[in-house]
Amino acid sequence: KGIVLVLHDITGLKKLEQVRTDFVANVSHELKTPVTSIKGFTETLLDGAMHSEPLREKFLNIIAKESERLQDLIEELLELSRIEQSYFRLNWHTTNFKTIIEEVFDLLKEKAKNKGIHLDLVIEGDTTLEGDATRLKQIAINLINNAIAYTPTGGHVTVFLKGRENRVELDVIDTGVGISESELPRIFERFYRVDRARSRNSGGTGLGLAIVKHLVEAHSGIISVTSQVGKGTTFSIEFHKERQQ
Ligand code: ADP
Repeated sequence: KGIVLVLHDITGLKKLEQVRTDFVANVSHELKTPVTSIKGFTETLLDGAMHSEPLREKFLNIIAKESERLQDLIEELLELSRIEQSYFRLNWHTTNFKTIIEEVFDLLKEKAKNKGIHLDLVIEGDTTLEGDATRLKQIAINLINNAIAYTPTGGHVTVFLKGRENRVELDVIDTGVGISESELPRIFERFYRVDRARSRNSGGTGLGLAIVKHLVEAHSGIISVTSQVGKGTTFSIEFHKERQQ
């Protein structure tokens, strides 16, 4: 029995080591892409392109965009690392999810409008719960942002917030590109993206859902997803109204 246990532990350690190695490789790759681009365009400017007004503007815009991407990536990496620390704690208070969702709507409605996406909100029942308002807001922003990003112009994003007896449920429903069954289990992994180019264009880092999952679980909540390619995706979260042990 002892031997079985030891073998089991070694397998676990190897897996952990593999996860760590993959993570370092992913981070390096993700950081390298914008840095290479910034370096390349800076050199091209210094080599003479800066004397051409249209080229100068074009290249500086690319440099600005790639620097911003680098900054977003570093901020999300730091955020993920903070959340994954063993001493990470939520700031528990009694809060109303309705107020949080309304704030998120104010933040994102312009973005949806600019992309030509119909953004709707349905609220039912008493949505008061114990939780960390800042983190609940972060969860909602991430999911609604994704729904907008992965839904083409003319589509719909509906946010459904339901207060039940002991639980509060949040559904974010979109009529977007969808996710295939084989990719679905992987989307919560750090850096996993179904379509790298699409994610990149929408300013994605591939870390958002990993962060969301952590935060939902820190609240003892459950997150699930259903999707159909070409039809749309629904992310559903269930929170207990009362803080669990
Ligand atoms: P990203 O920054 O790339 O959006 P996320 O961790 O938030 O990273 O999501 C991981 C991947 O899951 C995305 O790259 C995308 O492929 C897929 N995804 C997330 N939300 C949706 C959605 N609402 N519709 C379709 N695909 C989605």
